[in-house]
Amino acid sequence: MAILKFAPEALSNLFKPPVTTAYPAKPAEYPERSRGHIEIEIDDCISCGLCARACPCGTISVDRSAGTWTIDRYDCIACGFCVVKCPKKCLTMVPGYQTPGGKKSSVTYQKSPEVMAAEAKKREEAAAKAAAAKAAAAKE
Ligand code: SF4
Ligand code: SF4
Repeated sequence: MAILKFAPEALSNLFKPPVTTAYPAKPAEYPERSRGHIEIEIDDCISCGLCARACPCGTISVDRSAGTWTIDRYDCIACGFCVVKCPKKCLTMVPGYQTPGGKKSSVTYQKSPEVMAAEAKKREEAAAKAAAAKAAAAKE
């Protein structure tokens, strides 16, 4: 008599829309707080490397002199440690997963020339200040 138990449910399903979606023809709708992938506002990054040190998978690499930030999304486990550790809050976890692929690859973000120039100027000024302080100390 099990069929009698399921019959009302089966009949009601005839009049309901399908619970499945037509993905990928119809884009997936991710829950608001889903852990998808990491994005960066690269021009806000100060290349401190804290995200790379916090990452349990060694997924991130930071090159301060080149002004780049690189992530291998295929190694990322979406734990969010890097987001928590970033002092500039320039990392965010956004919905949407890494597109599947046959080969692992990384993506590199590059700071804009304006930000690179501003950082270089700051470094030069700091070096000049340090040199002046050293020279003044030597005179005393
Ligand atoms: S979310 Fe986790 S695994 Fe992914 S890059 Fe950040 S720290 Fe690494
Ligand atoms: S922790 Fe933030 S500011 Fe520091 S290198 Fe990573 S992304 Fe850039």
